[in-house]
Amino acid sequence: MEFIDLQAQYQALRQPIDLAIREVLDASRYINGPQVKQLEEALAGFVGVEHAVGFSSGTDALLAILMAWEIGPGDEVITTPFSFIATAETICLVGARPVFVDVSPDTLNLDPELIEAAITPRTRAIMPVSLFGQCADFDAINAVAARHGLPVLEDACQSFGAAYQGRRSCGLTEAAATSFFPAKPLGCYGDGGMAFVRDGELARQLRVIREHGQVEQYRHAVIGINGRLDTLQAAILLAKLPHFEAEIRARQMAARRYAERLEGRVRIPAIRPENLSVFAQYTVRVAERATVREKLASAGIPTAVHYPTPLHRQPVFMAMGYEGVDCPVATQAAQEVLSLPMHPYLTEEQQERVAQALLQAVA
Ligand SMILES: *Cc1c(COP(=O)(O)O)cnc(C)c1O
Repeated sequence: MEFIDLQAQYQALRQPIDLAIREVLDASRYINGPQVKQLEEALAGFVGVEHAVGFSSGTDALLAILMAWEIGPGDEVITTPFSFIATAETICLVGARPVFVDVSPDTLNLDPELIEAAITPRTRAIMPVSLFGQCADFDAINAVAARHGLPVLEDACQSFGAAYQGRRSCGLTEAAATSFFPAKPLGCYGDGGMAFVRDGELARQLRVIREHGQVEQYRHAVIGINGRLDTLQAAILLAKLPHFEAEIRARQMAARRYAERLEGRVRIPAIRPENLSVFAQYTVRVAERATVREKLASAGIPTAVHYPTPLHRQPVFMAMGYEGVDCPVATQAAQEVLSLPMHPYLTEEQQERVAQALLQAVA
């Protein structure tokens, strides 16, 4: 059994993907080929937002947005300690300081109630993560942000395709970034990402930053990055996109099957009624996780831990003076979370095996 079965997906979608790759090879426009713009238009439409700008990764998309907002040394960005390192890393890369605010105990997303107390005159933005495929509480977050005149950047690297009150992730704030890393809900076959923004001027800025700050050939107006999305990756994503809605439904079906088997016996993911999750991860919480993981491994069941250490306890942040930061909910969650195999091609029989083994392991 695979934790995320990329091979099963490729076998199911082989024909359109092979064709898309062949077309790129035949045209040999590997950088800025027409598929990049086609994908940007298709995904802007999918999300329902004005502008999409392709990037070489989710990390670069997040970074470019912070650069475009001219966030830098002396600035603070409020974010969650319960995420992949890239979220806080991009804040540090522009020279600003992440301010970690604890998460809600049910969703493990940024707790909007705690944001206001963390705002200072140096705060420049709020950067929530839509963790495990479920959107953060954007009504509450946007309301706090609006009261203080702060922009909100959704780290939607795990939530592309998710919805909040019927509106898609990446279209809920002034800016968002997603990732097409192969294991994400909409994955390519290498690294890739995209920024989504409402403002046309910001979109133009992002295109300049993406290409070394270039405004016309060999004229550079600002310091940028080499952040382009490959034509090949855009073509693969265009081939996969028509199947994405069906894959989201398959993920939700798989989540329902896990819930039927595990609810009441293991702490299953809490999805709020306003949310439609894409289940980038199906993450349960257990006591004595190490033992449970070992038992599952010996039953041939792969698992993962997202994440074993909250960001404020990572060596890099401890070295930067974050010892005094206290985020008890994130710290506790880091000891309990256990992600089970989850992907659109998981069979009922496989899920039955996972559930049986898990229930035995926690008994
Ligand atoms: C995957 C991920 C990223 C980074 O995306 P890349 O495309 O790998 O750079 C950022 N934030 C979160 C929450 C992620 O899960």
